Amino acid sequence: MTGLVVVSHSRALADSAVALAAEMLHGSQVPIAVAAGLDATTFGTDATAIVEAIVSADDGVGVVVLMDLGSAVLSAEMALDMIDPGIRERVVLCPAPLVEGLVVAAVSAAGGATPAEVAAEAIGSLAAKQSHVNAPVPLSADADRVEERLDEGDSRDAETSASVVVKIANPHGLHARPAARLVQEARLFDAKIELRNLDTGAGPVPASSLSRVATLGALCGHRVELTATGSQAREALDHVVALANRRFDEQESVTPSGSEVSPGDRAPETPMPASPGIAIGPALSMRAADIEVPDETPQDQETEWRRVRAAVAKVRREIQRIRAKAARDGGESEARIFDAHLMLIDDTDLLEAVRSGIASGAAATRAWADAIADVEAEFANVSDDYLRSRALDVHAVGQQVARSLAGAPTPRIEGDGVLIADDLVPAQVADLDTSRVTGLVLASGSPTSHSAILARSRGIPAVVGAGSVVLDVSPGTTVALDGTTGRFFVDPDNETLRELRAADQDAHAKAALAKAEALAPAVTVDGVEILVGANVGSVDDAQAAAGDGAELAGLVRTEFLYLGRDNAPTVDEQVETYRALADALGGRRLTLRTLDVGGDKPLPYAPQPPEANPFLGMRGIRLALMQGDLFDAQLRAFVTVAHETPVSVMFPMVSTLHELEHAQHRLDEAITDVGRGRPEALQVGIMVEVPAAALKAAAFAPHIDFFSIGTNDLTQYALAAERGNSAVAALGDPLDPGVLRLIESVCRAADGRCLVAVCGELAANESATPLLVALGVRELSVAPTSVAAIKHAVRHIDQVVDSDLVRRCLTAAGPSEVRDILG
Ligand code: PEP
Ligand code: MG
Repeated sequence: MTGLVVVSHSRALADSAVALAAEMLHGSQVPIAVAAGLDATTFGTDATAIVEAIVSADDGVGVVVLMDLGSAVLSAEMALDMIDPGIRERVVLCPAPLVEGLVVAAVSAAGGATPAEVAAEAIGSLAAKQSHVNAPVPLSADADRVEERLDEGDSRDAETSASVVVKIANPHGLHARPAARLVQEARLFDAKIELRNLDTGAGPVPASSLSRVATLGALCGHRVELTATGSQAREALDHVVALANRRFDEQESVTPSGSEVSPGDRAPETPMPASPGIAIGPALSMRAADIEVPDETPQDQETEWRRVRAAVAKVRREIQRIRAKAARDGGESEARIFDAHLMLIDDTDLLEAVRSGIASGAAATRAWADAIADVEAEFANVSDDYLRSRALDVHAVGQQVARSLAGAPTPRIEGDGVLIADDLVPAQVADLDTSRVTGLVLASGSPTSHSAILARSRGIPAVVGAGSVVLDVSPGTTVALDGTTGRFFVDPDNETLRELRAADQDAHAKAALAKAEALAPAVTVDGVEILVGANVGSVDDAQAAAGDGAELAGLVRTEFLYLGRDNAPTVDEQVETYRALADALGGRRLTLRTLDVGGDKPLPYAPQPPEANPFLGMRGIRLALMQGDLFDAQLRAFVTVAHETPVSVMFPMVSTLHELEHAQHRLDEAITDVGRGRPEALQVGIMVEVPAAALKAAAFAPHIDFFSIGTNDLTQYALAAERGNSAVAALGDPLDPGVLRLIESVCRAADGRCLVAVCGELAANESATPLLVALGVRELSVAPTSVAAIKHAVRHIDQVVDSDLVRRCLTAAGPSEVRDILG
């Protein structure tokens, strides 16, 4: 019997289509195999999986392959190149619509039709639907008629064209990862989408090509026009607009936290800190020099093209293997780095360029090397630093395929020590054996490169951008690096080695000690207990925090429940999540911050008018108060959980007393709605993120139980330095005496009447702990990984009252003077 294979970007879609087709078979058994998605939930197609599916569906009669869109077709073609020629000749790639085609094909295969007959039936499968909606399309399924239908389809497409302008809200613009999401999603529609950057005039470029989209140079705030044509033009645009509103599902900033890099000050070829920690050891080198493109005599075009596809398929499998490893080691957000690489090697424009290189007489390796060099050059010419550094990713992936084409060996690391390389593909960083490679020095690269991000998540101390001179260090030479400060030494003298070793030992001993006593309370030497809590966004965070001694969740970023979805979670869903958080924390207090969206975190289902300065616009409590149901539903969920476990409700971005009163009134209404009276342990507080709120804290104090200072936003507003803008990153320093004075103002106004907490990143700075405590802060809420260290720092404070320390820091000239005082 003819077998069927369903190739789709989505496993769920393919499984459902097969279930639907099975309904029509009334018990007949047609061999149907699925090759869909990179796993159960990740969109993508894989030629190797398609080969396996074909082999399993083939019982000797032949197989018809039905595909969804774009790269599904490309992957199916690649699968044919890879499969045993004996099987290949009985396989038909069928251009029928996936769902209708599969249903018709299954019925026809069950009736004993040959693969050619099954394919022809499937191609005509839209007939019933077309005649029902009176579409002027021929009903027969022969090849000429199919052409006609496609032509007519095209002319209909031209009529259904639409355009829309979106503003890019991602801090680093439309760089590789968000661009990869855009390309992934745009390919799912029967529509051709083109993009133009209205701010630079770049484009139009097709949304189906990662290499072209990323070179639009679309930075944060740029307006990008999307024009779609095709039968699903509108749906495609609606979908992409929703995606853009979700910042292309990019939720984390890729700027390294705590980095001391000051881009403006950096001398060329000065190493930059990329991943904290100290590493000392013999230099290891990895022969990562670019391969010389061999002088091959091309065979026939088909053979050369097949070589390219085979090499791409091999590298794709390798990247998928590393992606799975990265997901296990560092979580899904680290693993997404590789999605951009996967998109790049399947990029239709890139492969088209390779193909035309082959058509003009080049051998596979030369055609590939030329096409990838063009893409790399486009990236390298973009004005934005971050986007420009993506050229390194393109280069690295290009080298992987070129090596495979030329049969060059994969570079290997010999021995144990500090690895020095020009640059590493993220895959190589993810694959490093951390028991052997104790540090990393890259001649090129930047702290925001994906390799640096991975080094940080894997705990490998690293400096990057050290210049090509480091490549001359002979293997075996002792080298040392400090990934916190960016210092790098070749053959360091004994004194330097002693200093670095001592610092390293201290850091390790401190971490071990902190961990050993993590569960004990954090009490200063003079007997004052400081609450150390955790900032959590997920149940995993809460579990990790409880294990490391967190006494409460000092900040639950509830917006993580709302972002990345097309509709709001129900009250029941929210209650369930907050309950799970409380359980993970062993019933300790949850500080639930009300929805903090708007600005850089738009919500698709809470539409806002476009704003010139979103950080100064409708965000936090301002937006929440404008939202009827969304805010009220959240408050009802809070109140429900507050009847079961201690809850503090915290309002973000409060600027005026009127906002607080308004928010409290809505909370009272929620208490009435829930109908069980005011929960006994319910507390209410505000985040202090707006400088004016800090200065008039006394006006708020009588009305609340606590202040929680959000130093991340407070710093950006106090110093007029947007937190996502790397150009002003060095200005936005929370140790600036101007920011410290605002914190002092809050503590003074609270005057023991209500608790003052700090939940911004400053709370995790151990050297600032004595100062914050001396100012009057009594709760510090930090990332789960910092809880133990901050508790440890508290235990080393001799006396909470230290007016001399406070005076010296508040009157210091700037943040570096404050750092000197704090030591
Ligand atoms: C802050 O602004 O310091 C804060 C903790 O809130 P977020 O970082 O979520 O804006
Ligand atoms: Mg904030």
